[in-house]
Amino acid sequence: MEHVNSHNAFAEAKQCIPGGVNSPVRAFGNVSVEPIVYDHAKGSRIWDVDGNEYIDFISSWGPMILGHRPEAVESAVRAQLEKGYSFGAPCVAETKLAETVCRLIPSAEKARMVSSGTEATMSAIRLARGYTHRDKFIKFEGNYHGHSDALLAAAGSGVATLSIPGNPGITPGAVADTLIARYNDLGSVRALFEAYPEDVAAIIVEPIAGNMGCVPPAEGFLQGLRDLCDEFGAVLIFDEVINGFRASLGGAQQLYNVMPDITTLGKIIGGGFPVGCFAGRAEIMDCLAPAGQVYQAGTLSGNPVAMEAGLAMLTELEKGGVYEKIDALGARLEDGLNGIIAKYSLPCCVNRSGSVLTLFFTEGPVTDWDSASKSNIQMFDKYFEGMTERGFIIAPSQYECLFVSAAHTEEEIDSFIAAADEVLSQL
Ligand SMILES: *Cc1c(COP(=O)(O)O)cnc(C)c1O
Repeated sequence: MEHVNSHNAFAEAKQCIPGGVNSPVRAFGNVSVEPIVYDHAKGSRIWDVDGNEYIDFISSWGPMILGHRPEAVESAVRAQLEKGYSFGAPCVAETKLAETVCRLIPSAEKARMVSSGTEATMSAIRLARGYTHRDKFIKFEGNYHGHSDALLAAAGSGVATLSIPGNPGITPGAVADTLIARYNDLGSVRALFEAYPEDVAAIIVEPIAGNMGCVPPAEGFLQGLRDLCDEFGAVLIFDEVINGFRASLGGAQQLYNVMPDITTLGKIIGGGFPVGCFAGRAEIMDCLAPAGQVYQAGTLSGNPVAMEAGLAMLTELEKGGVYEKIDALGARLEDGLNGIIAKYSLPCCVNRSGSVLTLFFTEGPVTDWDSASKSNIQMFDKYFEGMTERGFIIAPSQYECLFVSAAHTEEEIDSFIAAADEVLSQL
């Protein structure tokens, strides 16, 4: 594959954008391949500025669950463009999207729109603190909740991939009330509650972790968190920025039948446009200004184009059939990869949750950050390079997931498996 234009475009980007990217993991920090600069995409395919065609398994890190440029989303966006694209005032689409969120996400009674997952989680923590009048919160090692100061401790993928020690720019004070527990380890959570029985406002958790690679919750883990929150009077926040409308139409909470108090959403909810959302019990949500005292705001929040895109996306998903399809494709991919691991006796394992999976270069089982971080990053690098050369776009980090979309076909999954067989046979 020729990458002349891509190389030049990235060189130019580095002149005026720090590291050449607007989000660090795109810089391919831990792999030996240079970032690819893209030009256009449709369905399961994406093309770079040199005209190379790839099958895309990043799917914009999740949002493109129907593939790129689904007709329904595109026509909704076009129609709204004709009517105006930022009012800074209420519009009907934001109400419709909030109604849809409250209908689909089982624990949601009221919803507020923001413009990114980072804003959603940051605001959810503030709301939980305002509601409980407590300061501390618990997060899990290897879980990522966006890049706000208090949440960037032990934050998995992007930070881990670049091996950034500590977090320069974040003051000790900003993380002084952030308590870190071990994912899938209820004992570590109880110990924190017992150390601070009156001080913990919330637990925030990725119910199916996706930012240390895919790590599903152990049996009873989520219910255990629910019970601990009830026992100690804390708010349970499910960060479903990846899981929402992905694990099922109602997210991980529907799949596991455990109800949080607040849910944060992002990625799929915007249909590819910048939308985040936090939603929850009305009693808690009504603490937000102007109904209540907890301040939160956004000039472009509820942007009509983004709202129409999200609404069209969720309306398509509600029509049915998508989850059966993508989960079956995910299972097919998992089976194929497991076959390769067995055939070459590779020290690898696959974790999968529906249409999301990670091939770990460690024997596993991978159940938390400790076990995920035992992965052989050099082997991952070779795998990544081999797959990219063969025309398959996967996340450039061991600690990310592969996303199957409804635009993928069985043939594409099989061609991925065949390419992976070639690459992995040479490791
Ligand atoms: C991506 C992600 C975020 C942050 O969302 P942005 O839109 O990138 O700010 C938060 N939580 C989880 C679980 C995520 O995967």
